[in-house]
Amino acid sequence: MAAHQEKKLAEERKHQNMQNDTKASQGQWGRAWEVDWFSLASILFLLMFAPLIVYYFIMSCAQYQCSLTDPLLDLLTGNKHLSDIWNRTPMLTYRAAAIYSLWVIFQVFLYMSIPDFCHKFLPGYVGGVQEGAVTPAGAVNKYEVNGLQAWIITHVLWFANASCFHFFSPTIIFDNWIPLLWCANILGYAVSTFAMIKGYFFPTNAKDCKITGNFFYDYMMGIEFNPRIGKWFDFKLFFNGRPGIVAWTLINLSFAAKQQELYGEVSNSMILVNVLQGIYVLDFFWNEAWYLKTIDICHDHFGWYLGWGDCVWLPYLYTLQGLYLVYHPVQLCTAYAVGVLTLGLLGYYIFRMTNHQKDLFRRTNGNCRIWGKKPEYIECSYMSVDGTKYYSKLMTSGFWGWARHFNYTGDLMGSLAYCLACGFEHMLPYFYIVYMTILLIHRCIRDEHRCSSKYGKDWKCYTAVVPYRLLPGVF
Ligand code: NDP
Repeated sequence: MAAHQEKKLAEERKHQNMQNDTKASQGQWGRAWEVDWFSLASILFLLMFAPLIVYYFIMSCAQYQCSLTDPLLDLLTGNKHLSDIWNRTPMLTYRAAAIYSLWVIFQVFLYMSIPDFCHKFLPGYVGGVQEGAVTPAGAVNKYEVNGLQAWIITHVLWFANASCFHFFSPTIIFDNWIPLLWCANILGYAVSTFAMIKGYFFPTNAKDCKITGNFFYDYMMGIEFNPRIGKWFDFKLFFNGRPGIVAWTLINLSFAAKQQELYGEVSNSMILVNVLQGIYVLDFFWNEAWYLKTIDICHDHFGWYLGWGDCVWLPYLYTLQGLYLVYHPVQLCTAYAVGVLTLGLLGYYIFRMTNHQKDLFRRTNGNCRIWGKKPEYIECSYMSVDGTKYYSKLMTSGFWGWARHFNYTGDLMGSLAYCLACGFEHMLPYFYIVYMTILLIHRCIRDEHRCSSKYGKDWKCYTAVVPYRLLPGVF
């Protein structure tokens, strides 16, 4: 009897410890619970200035031939007033509103109504219903992975229109670029506001919500982890991938069509940008199932950062090189063009192989071969909100033995190639590499903070074995 009571007490103590651990890990895993002043200041800065930054870049192309300094000089010297610039900016039009609404409705239709058929005939492609990672509350969501199909259908229709039907001009996106910007902003703000209200009043999974009580922080970083409407309309998967990323290649094609219309030919730099960014976009959709395991889906809550970012920031700022080349049709010498292409392809190879190695390693639970050998790894464990203990592995060989985020290094090499394709006359096309460097270094630090909280001492062992983040021996 005494032995039985002691056993019961020990079990209660174990349960209590587990709950404490859980609180601790829940507090750190994913988005923060409390806001420090630096995060708040950064968030306020972004909320106020990110829309202005996008406007400034697009306006400087439309009114100042992509010079970033001329608008400022004009304003500072009193040559122009803000109102002069604003009065020359195209406003929202019915035509743009109709184009944008049709676009979003069409993408929702492709996402919701056509189950994936690509995985049935494309060898090696993983599509259809797939599971995401375990959420902090211990849930596992199912996703309909059909982005590749949506991308193919959209592009087939685009080319069919451009070559046969001629319902609209392929320059349609460029011709309505600023009016469409207002539409994208309306959708971005609407969806972020809706996500916030939904998070408060009717969340999909209340246990996966985080509320700091600070309105701005919650609005920016999101309350709900995986907001959904119905069983399948997942906000993160839809807005992260489409309409922004499906549009990315169409936007570039529209810019190329505009070059053709204006100058009678498409420059080799425009072709380079279309090809390199096209590979990146296609890669994204080919690996959409893998994408379910990346930080955006696994760890970020859905707020303005993702909602507005996917609708406005991504399609407008990731396509700056193509836009720039409409105004400056740079023709590169062959040797330089080959150099840029090589850098872009090498960056892509590193990016893809690094991601592939981790994916293969995790999918097979380490029972695979990396560079012809059995992978080396560190065993680690973590706990979810419901107190369940999970086990995982951190690979320390292949590209993951070179640096802790070598996939980011490859991504940065590719990003630099897009910028270099535009020559050196203006700063504007280089915004992308500056932005990606800040984004990925910040992401690196954010991810490592999270992993360190999640895995504790196991993470320390890992960083001792793989001491560098992006470049072995440097950083
Ligand atoms: P990663 O794919 O690098 O995923 C990081 C996660 O992988 C960690 O949180 C951890 O998750 C797990 N992990 C870390 N180290 C190891 C290891 N050694 N072995 C096994 N698993 C490990 O990061 P992202 O999701 O940020 O990026 C995915 C890709 O998307 C990158 O290539 C990036 O360049 C790209 N990207 C592009 C952006 C763009 O705007 N163009 C924006 C953001 C990303 P766990 O908790 O499961 O252990």
